[in-house]
Amino acid sequence: MSWKMTPKLAERIQHYARFPPTGVSLRQMVQFGQHPSPGTLFRGAQFLGEELPIRLAHRVQELDHLPDGLSNMPSIQKVKNWYAQSFEEITSMPHPKLSPEVREILYSTKHHLSENTHNPALPVNEQKQANKRYHYHFDNKTSWPAEIHDFNQRFTRMLIGIKRRHDAVVTTIAQGINEYKHSRQRMQIDDTIQAFLDRFYMSRIGIRILIGQHIALNTEKPRENYVGIICTKTNVRELATDAIDNARFICEDHYGIFEAPKVQLVCDPDLSFMYVPGHLSHMLFEILKNSLRAVVEKEGIPADEYSPVKLIVAAGKEDITIKISDEGGGIPRSAIPYVWTYMYTTVESTPDLDPDFNKSDFKAPMAGFGYGLPISRLYARYFGGDLRLISMEGYGTDAYLHLNRLSSSSEPLP
Ligand code: ADP
Ligand code: MG
Repeated sequence: MSWKMTPKLAERIQHYARFPPTGVSLRQMVQFGQHPSPGTLFRGAQFLGEELPIRLAHRVQELDHLPDGLSNMPSIQKVKNWYAQSFEEITSMPHPKLSPEVREILYSTKHHLSENTHNPALPVNEQKQANKRYHYHFDNKTSWPAEIHDFNQRFTRMLIGIKRRHDAVVTTIAQGINEYKHSRQRMQIDDTIQAFLDRFYMSRIGIRILIGQHIALNTEKPRENYVGIICTKTNVRELATDAIDNARFICEDHYGIFEAPKVQLVCDPDLSFMYVPGHLSHMLFEILKNSLRAVVEKEGIPADEYSPVKLIVAAGKEDITIKISDEGGGIPRSAIPYVWTYMYTTVESTPDLDPDFNKSDFKAPMAGFGYGLPISRLYARYFGGDLRLISMEGYGTDAYLHLNRLSSSSEPLP
């Protein structure tokens, strides 16, 4: 690796780490990205140009100050350098010089944006009206100058590179923890490290949403019901059906069985809400795999017919709650705290850490990393939801996935 941290860069990172991150809610992102003009996208890039370095700087600082020599593990250093390198790229990107006229227009954009994004209470109708008025005014008055288009393109290209650089962060941090365990002869990670991982991965989810959203708004054609990566009408039944198919398929493949346990789905076919579909798929897939595994391992291979798993979706005013129940024998009460720790798994030989495995959600193996539950709970909490397990040892487990419907909860920022 040729990239190296310089003292000057370290100083700049320290400076940025003094600022608190700014939270963004799902609703704010939707309002911002509804009809993005090049000017809006430019403003978005400006926001990220400030916000991402702050968030990255906090992570660099944290990776540098982990307890008990964990910071010195080669894989932790590697990840720290990725964060620092991305920080450097963003902060050294040249911004265009804009004429007073363009700045004036951008200023009105800013005004318009802050009015809308900071006022989630504004009725949807008025919002639409405001957007229409604004766009009419805009499209008639000017077309955006080349330096705006050019900057948007360069910024997006840079973000695509950064996102890719950080693809393997979860597995590389996991490697770092393994290096630490070996060097210290430790079996379990303590509360401090567990808390660090929760903070670190939570922050990563936030950064990737901001980056993913900006890339999508800049590169993808508008799709019905989508604003970037957010679907304003995420259909729960459709996603659950896909997750069931995927989990059953991987279960059959993994155990070499003809038919995985069936999953009974109870869900209003018309139920939809505003969410990031990729997150919901990920959580459902992970919880379902755990249930299928528990049932297959309890009832044995081969079995004529396995006990079914049930997936029940309830639509409340505040929450959509998804309960996944299995008869896989449950979890001893004493083991419940451990299921939320990273790398806790009852699979005997952990599959090889494939640095590519993060890249596609659905290449994740059946089980064995011990990341399924803790990461799913972070996804749930990220938008104001939660994930809980209730086990009846000797019978089975119920997983409760709560998803917040109001979508106005702001990011939990570490
Ligand atoms: P992994 O599946 O890779 O082991 P997870 O975080 O998904 O990691 O789960 C951690 C552990 O929790 C599992 O290894 C298993 O022992 C236990 N567990 C999770 N869900 C269930 C379930 N539905 N029934 C029984 N045990 C479960
Ligand atoms: Mg799992």
